Amino acid sequence: SEAGATTTDAPAKKHPKGVILGKDGKPCRPCNSFAAFTSQTKSLKAATKTVSATPGDCPADVETLGRSSWTLLHSIAAIYPTTPTASDQSDIKSFMKLFAKFYPCWSCAEDFQEYIQKKDVRASSRDEFGNWLCDAHNEVNKKLGKPVFDCSKWEERWRTGWKD
Ligand code: FAD
Repeated sequence: SEAGATTTDAPAKKHPKGVILGKDGKPCRPCNSFAAFTSQTKSLKAATKTVSATPGDCPADVETLGRSSWTLLHSIAAIYPTTPTASDQSDIKSFMKLFAKFYPCWSCAEDFQEYIQKKDVRASSRDEFGNWLCDAHNEVNKKLGKPVFDCSKWEERWRTGWKD
């Protein structure tokens, strides 16, 4: 779910200020932005006293984690075989299912698992998998109010580089 959003169905999982909590009842680092996470700690100094005072050296927040994860996923699509074997196809489907299960932002993971259940992973070719992933990413973009990416360009963005 969108970090910072308020919901009516799962109030126990959110701090009054809209911060997503972990299963332990404490603010969940990979589910929130660095700013939202630290707003729930006594002070920024207290939150970062054993590490650097800059976000760069801290455990990943929802945005850093997301950006890195999409980079990994689209880069996997970029090297996925153009004509995958039955075993490649079954492996990538299992990988995506397990990725969604273990994704560190639990609220993102729940929505992503639901998406995979609704829209089965399509991976009978590189192009099909690249487009499936692009659509999945766009679903999250829409939820977060970000621009929708033109999926006809996924390969230029993640494999070949932009055409001049
Ligand atoms: P990102 O969305 O991280 O994208 C990185 C780059 O990918 C962009 O700069 C662009 O060049 C390219 N790109 C953008 N869209 C596409 C596309 N459709 N296809 C191909 N390339 C594209 N955050 C939340 O707050 N709540 C959530 O519920 C949530 N769920 C997530 C679920 C998953 C599985 C993942 C991996 C991330 C999730 N995130 C969630 C994180 C969120 O999607 C972003 O990664 C984060 O907000 C940082 O966004 P960004 O603007 O840097 O670009």
